[in-house]
Amino acid sequence: MKIAVASGKGGTGKTFIATNLFFSLTGQGYNTGLIDCDAEAPNAAAFFNLTEVSRTNVAQLVPVIDTEKCTWCGKCHEYCNYNAIFYLPHIKLINVIEELCHGCGACSFACDSGAISEKPESLGNVVSYSYQNKTIVAEAVMNPGVMSPVPVIKKAISLAGNDREVIIMDSPPGTSCPFIQTVATADYIILVTEPTPFGLSDLKQSVDTLRTIGKDFGVIINRAGLGSKDIYTWLESENIRLLLEVPFKKETARIYSTGSLVADHDRFFMMQLMSVYKHIEEQYGDSSNQR
Ligand code: SF4
Ligand code: SF4
Repeated sequence: MKIAVASGKGGTGKTFIATNLFFSLTGQGYNTGLIDCDAEAPNAAAFFNLTEVSRTNVAQLVPVIDTEKCTWCGKCHEYCNYNAIFYLPHIKLINVIEELCHGCGACSFACDSGAISEKPESLGNVVSYSYQNKTIVAEAVMNPGVMSPVPVIKKAISLAGNDREVIIMDSPPGTSCPFIQTVATADYIILVTEPTPFGLSDLKQSVDTLRTIGKDFGVIINRAGLGSKDIYTWLESENIRLLLEVPFKKETARIYSTGSLVADHDRFFMMQLMSVYKHIEEQYGDSSNQR
């Protein structure tokens, strides 16, 4: 089964939960994969001793316009929904703004005069690592200046394959396209938040989005004990399952800040994460059949 670990904003502990859950599952013998879908700032791999096994370039086709063949009909400009074709016919100027291009191919389709060809443009890479010689960690890394990491995320998810008992996906923060792309492929989503007004506000947005697209989810409150009780009242009023509270502890922050896994030092925390997983597996998964 695929579990996405997500949050409405960065810094709430999403990668903390994703990496420790992956570590706990692997330690308990599950055939697990970890995909870092946070392509703008991937850092899950930093918590493990990994060996790089492959690096796959992800490219999209962008148009190239031959002004010698162009008849200045303007159709490509009209067809482009992303305003990626800069078109000033009165001074015979036409250009593709590659940063805005989504590679949809509509302009090539529209052009009757053969003035548009296509070239591949790199969007980023998917780096695959092996962990303990068996499990996989795939990291989506988008190039600077690229408009959308979605094609790189899609590739990372596809490269992780479907032959794992469990795949943990560290989702991009927010609720825009990269988040949707990640959670759309998940069987269950763990939303990580913190008990502050900002945490609650971002959580509400994430919940709205997941309800709109019909995805099941539960909540982990990180740094519990800080902030207020408002988030608990809201979860109860919305009938949303609270999966786990991770109390704010200096020792936890210290271990995490050194790039170590808290579950490797704290067996109780590992067991808590395993019981969260067991609940999800019982309710939503079928991986128990494969063990
Ligand atoms: S490929 Fe699509 S997005 Fe890119 S310039 Fe052409 S129409 Fe616009
Ligand atoms: S559709 Fe083709 S011919 Fe027309 S303006 Fe665009 S490039 Fe030129």
